[in-house]
Amino acid sequence: MTTKRYAIIGAGPSGLAAARAFQKAGIDFDGFEAAAGVGGLWDIDNPRSTMYESAHLISSRTTTQFDEMPMKSGIDYPSHRELIGYFRDYADRFNLTERYLFNTRVLDVHHDMDYRWAVTVQGADGRQVTQHYDGVILANGTLAEPNIPTFPGTFDGEIIHSSQYKRASQFDGKRVLVIGAGNSGCDIAVDAVHHADAIDMSVRRGYYFVPRYLFGRPTDTLNQGKPLPAPIKQLVDKNLLQAFTGDPVRFGFPQPDYKIYESHPIVNTLILNHLGQGDLQIRPDIERFDGHTVHFVDGSASDYDLILLATGYKLDYPFVDRADLNWQGAAPDLYLNIFTPSFNGLYVMGMVEASGLGWQGRYEQAELIAQYLAADATDPARAAAFRDRVLNQPWPDLTGGYKYLGLERMSYYVNKDAYRSTVRATTEALRGDAPASTSSTANKLALGAAAAVAVVGLVTIIAKAAGKKVSA
Ligand SMILES: Cc1cc2nc3c(=O)[nH]c(=O)nc-3n(C[C@H](O)[C@H](O)[C@H](O)COP(=O)(O)OP(=O)(O)OC[C@H]3O[C@@H](n4cnc5c(N)ncnc54)[C@H](O)[C@@H]3O)c2cc1C
Repeated sequence: MTTKRYAIIGAGPSGLAAARAFQKAGIDFDGFEAAAGVGGLWDIDNPRSTMYESAHLISSRTTTQFDEMPMKSGIDYPSHRELIGYFRDYADRFNLTERYLFNTRVLDVHHDMDYRWAVTVQGADGRQVTQHYDGVILANGTLAEPNIPTFPGTFDGEIIHSSQYKRASQFDGKRVLVIGAGNSGCDIAVDAVHHADAIDMSVRRGYYFVPRYLFGRPTDTLNQGKPLPAPIKQLVDKNLLQAFTGDPVRFGFPQPDYKIYESHPIVNTLILNHLGQGDLQIRPDIERFDGHTVHFVDGSASDYDLILLATGYKLDYPFVDRADLNWQGAAPDLYLNIFTPSFNGLYVMGMVEASGLGWQGRYEQAELIAQYLAADATDPARAAAFRDRVLNQPWPDLTGGYKYLGLERMSYYVNKDAYRSTVRATTEALRGDAPASTSSTANKLALGAAAAVAVVGLVTIIAKAAGKKVSA
């Protein structure tokens, strides 16, 4: 298809997706992976992995897996052990493993004199080698570089970030404070309940909690492919969730100062059960540390042995100049979170946070890159028209109508329906199958609006049965 050659950095789900899409499109590549095998952070033995022993999928199996290779397991939320097996099988089935150099870390990626990319790697023997490529696909993950906030005062106990958490025995006999109630923070707090002497959780804002199952089915499988308009979905889901899980404020969380889906929802109701049982307590934001004592902003204070920072991760592409990735603030500003506006030959995979994007969503990113590179090789006018659109037309709205919180971690957040339909439409347009439009999204939204009327009625009935008032 093309005589050009590309480098793929990383053999996690995103790198494997890129490798498979390139293989299918006949695009030549070399893969580099710092760890000993494929699977990215799902390989708990990968030194860069932030996985912990109790971790399972948060999104459900059928909405997460690659379409081309469904998982053999019938489990709705498989554990990381099954998932690493899945990625190994995926790589072997499509002969992707042999396309990678393992134990090989990319140290540097920069433009060389010929406007190609010089990629310097270091192998297990410590030797550094530089090779030249026509482009580089960055799939080195987004959840590896810890975000460590600072607090006034000093803490004399142990402080760890969730990236250093592996197993609940780390909490044995300790008084533990978890800071942050994101998905990892809640998972870890639930683990700690059975091991720690005492456990508290400090939060700055309220959260929305989604149960793993609704009506006996994995929640994220309900209403698939029929997105409701944002205000209707927010109205329906807020009331539906409150009818099922109750109001988190009752369990000690602050009232959220934003609407549902304006930040990432927490798929965990065990935490509410444990709060209801008095196994842990919610504390407010931290004012300062003093020895083993933590003072909170409400004037209360408690003593702890261990603080676990569940404070998330920062994007990190340490081997490439920030200007080459068009960094703006906390994240590179990329078309569809993939293409640099200068089309300099760097393409980013997996730099996308969304509720329920799954690995198929990442595969669709890879298909789009492959289609662009194929068009560039065989139909340069079509590729040029795409670049022209990126440079001269407004970029598509990927929020799905939700007003995301202006937090650093939300700077590359998208709505999965808006994102996936835009990526697919762009791929089709580059393939020459259809104009680049998101009319399919518009049609779905119209259908969704009609369905919403029925759903709102159902929610009202459920909420009434649960003795709740339906509220926006
Ligand atoms: C506890 C937990 C639960 C999760 N649950 C879900 C879920 O339910 N659903 C979901 O969709 N996502 C979930 N995720 C998000 C997860 O990030 C994605 O599923 C997926 O792993 C992202 O794949 P990736 O390939 O982009 O990144 P990673 O899996 O992080 O892979 C990146 C790879 O790049 C390699 N690498 C990094 N730097 C270099 C370098 N310089 N040179 C060579 N190689 C390098 C790393 O070794 C790694 O193998 C979860 C994450 C965690 C931590």
